[in-house]
Amino acid sequence: MRIVLLGAPGSGKGTQAALLKDHFSIPHISTGVLLREAVAQETPLGLKAKAIMDRGELVPDDVMLNLIRERLGQDDVKAGFILDGYPRNLAQAEALDGVLAELDQPVDEAVLIEVDEEQVVQRIALRASQEGRSDDTEDVVRNRMRVYEEQTAPVTGYYASRDLLTRVLGEGTIEEVLERIKGALQSGVAG
Ligand code: AMP
Repeated sequence: MRIVLLGAPGSGKGTQAALLKDHFSIPHISTGVLLREAVAQETPLGLKAKAIMDRGELVPDDVMLNLIRERLGQDDVKAGFILDGYPRNLAQAEALDGVLAELDQPVDEAVLIEVDEEQVVQRIALRASQEGRSDDTEDVVRNRMRVYEEQTAPVTGYYASRDLLTRVLGEGTIEEVLERIKGALQSGVAG
């Protein structure tokens, strides 16, 4: 099962991806987590990415492509994967298709978790107090939402036009949303 999870910042992507990872026994690949690890370890990538992340903007596509290509080339990915946070724009969606074509592992399903903006703002405020992420301040969150609308939302259309998109309501409890996603993936109904 090769899944791309889509949704605005605070839509619950990361939470759901972690649960889906256990359910399907496939790796959860979060580019945000990979970048935060690089920042914490002060690698060349981390040093380059930190300021960009702290502004809520996108790390350049070529940098992200190297990162995702390396991760998708690892052995555990042969079982499938849940991608969380990539692709974030149309160029990345096309680049991802190229990498996956080389691996002969095309995306099976893209799942869009839909939540209203008010709920997203509340969730991010909660996460800021729990995790202390440096990009969860109000100004940066606003910028991340803008970047999402302008650059990431069109990715939804990319997968819809390939008949791979399923929309799932992201409201309710974590378990309710998880059940919806599992149901959508089982039925394989896109649209
Ligand atoms: P996330 O944890 O997915 O919300 O990502 C946190 C931050 O990491 C984003 O606001 C971006 O600055 C950066 N980032 C994560 N994934 C990507 C990506 N696919 N392309 C560019 N930047 C990314």
